[in-house]
Formats: sequence, structure tokens, C-alpha cells
Amino acid sequence: MKCPSCKSNQIRVTDSRHIGKEIKRRKECNSCSYRFTTYEYIEEYTLENEQKIKALEQKLAKYEKAMEISKDNLNRALKGMML
Ligand SMILES: [Zn+2]
Repeated sequence: MKCPSCKSNQIRVTDSRHIGKEIKRRKECNSCSYRFTTYEYIEEYTLENEQKIKALEQKLAKYEKAMEISKDNLNRALKGMML
């Protein structure tokens, strides 16, 4: 994490506390003394999300295959025209 003010990475945490699922952290830049707050939370990777991603990947693979086929057809058509 870099300081939003001077981009230094000399950041120290002055305070951190749990707020529900989040962790609130008070931070201070050692270089310019700029103070700011960050919130951290855990993004859970659910099975449902994983299935959605898999379905999208399969769809994409199908499109890619279809594109390949149409490219082949185009190449064949072009070759046919040249002969
Ligand atoms: Zn700074």
C-alpha cells in the first residue's frame, strides 16, 4: 500500500479494529505524516460463483471454436477464389 498523498510505501498502522466483517485500519505515512483509513474485508469465493465462471468459460470456448471454424471457411473460400 502506498501513501495516497506522497506515494511513499512507508506506511504504518496506528489503529485497527473489527467492524462487523470489516477491519478498519488507521494508517499514517512515515514520510509525510498523511493520515488515512482503509477498510479490509474478505471476499468469499462461493461454489455458485465458481460455477458461473465455469459456464462463462465454456461459452467463451464455444465462441472461440465457432470463430476458428468461420476463419477456416473464409480461408477455404479465399483459396477457392484464387484458384
Ligand atoms: Zn506520504
